Amino acid sequence: MNELFSNRISGVAPSFIREILKVAMDPEIISFAGGLPNRDLFPVQALQKATNDLFNEDGKDILQYSSTEGYLPLREMIAADYKRKGLQISVDEILITNGSQQGLDLLGKVLLNEGDQVLIEEPGYLGAIQAFEVYSAVFNSVPVHQDGMDIDALKETLKTSNAKLMYTVPNFQNPSGISYTDENRRAVADCLLNKKILLIEDNPYGDLRFSGEEKQSFKALLPDQTILLGSFSKTVVPSFRLGWITAPKALMDKLVIAKQAGDLHTNYFCQRVLHRFLQDNDLQAHIKKIIAVYGHQKQVMENAIKRCFPEQVSYINPEGGMFLWVTLPEGMSATELFDKALKYKVAFVPGDPFYVEKRGLNTLRLNFSSVDPDIIEEGIKRLGKVLHELLDN
Ligand code: PMP
Repeated sequence: MNELFSNRISGVAPSFIREILKVAMDPEIISFAGGLPNRDLFPVQALQKATNDLFNEDGKDILQYSSTEGYLPLREMIAADYKRKGLQISVDEILITNGSQQGLDLLGKVLLNEGDQVLIEEPGYLGAIQAFEVYSAVFNSVPVHQDGMDIDALKETLKTSNAKLMYTVPNFQNPSGISYTDENRRAVADCLLNKKILLIEDNPYGDLRFSGEEKQSFKALLPDQTILLGSFSKTVVPSFRLGWITAPKALMDKLVIAKQAGDLHTNYFCQRVLHRFLQDNDLQAHIKKIIAVYGHQKQVMENAIKRCFPEQVSYINPEGGMFLWVTLPEGMSATELFDKALKYKVAFVPGDPFYVEKRGLNTLRLNFSSVDPDIIEEGIKRLGKVLHELLDN
């Protein structure tokens, strides 16, 4: 059978995280490995009411085929939210996608030829690496630090790279939780300005800020070159698979063709239910609730880390989002730690899959959004025990 597969798919590995999540399914294991929103915050009753109301009022229409671009009133709501944040984006520049993940796939389809270079953050979102690998991209990694992208490394890479696409998650990055400072964003924008390169600002976590100040979007700094991706997965529910892509008109026309060929349109029923939910409920108030819970969970994790981890282990304190990034002492492998931690029934994601090439790294990702505070305490205590055993001898 193998000889029947396309070159395109043969070189793409299955997601390493999916494999880890299988191991972490054991109910006795405390898992910081997932990347899930907290299910206790899903607005179950309000979504049920929106669905019932729609069936009663508009039952036939909500079950029909619809337009590729997406439900216009939903796109209008997205445009209005950008306006509230000071960004002028018209409805014609917004395409509703099957999660923001589909936005990445469509961009790969429309922009990448085999062997084309893509600049990507290191560490970077595994789902973006996988999406562009399917289009046989060649990656140029640029490290990110606590304050954002390494500008010297970016300048150096741009000297030799002919990448036409650069991928970033500037707010509460997956996996590292870091955010680019305003100064760093301006420096990145200066490097890219007037070059033939498009910048993807993937922003699924931007609304989930529990401390610090809101930062400027690349869309404001580099309006003609920025493609913004958004998602309802972390602010409402992920199962609807509703996200969006904003792009200039010429690119949008091509994205619409690619989407037509792929799936005709995003699930219209879910778009209608979500739109109704947003009409009848205060999304900002709902997001405030999420922020309060995640901010607390992050704080509980941080306090436990301070108490339980050896002092040679450091971490980045995120201002929002769902992840906390840990760095072990130089030379210590997080993958080896993972195997030992499983014996203590605690799991996390070792850093390796977030890097395009490097392996055996000393970094790891902890998710705090989907674990209850008392379980976070216990899990970090167990992880601290393993770390002390390894480092105190
Ligand atoms: N981008 C980033 C940075 C993510 O972390 C995720 C979810 N893990 C996605 C995109 C995809 O999200 P969705 O397709 O649910 O919108």
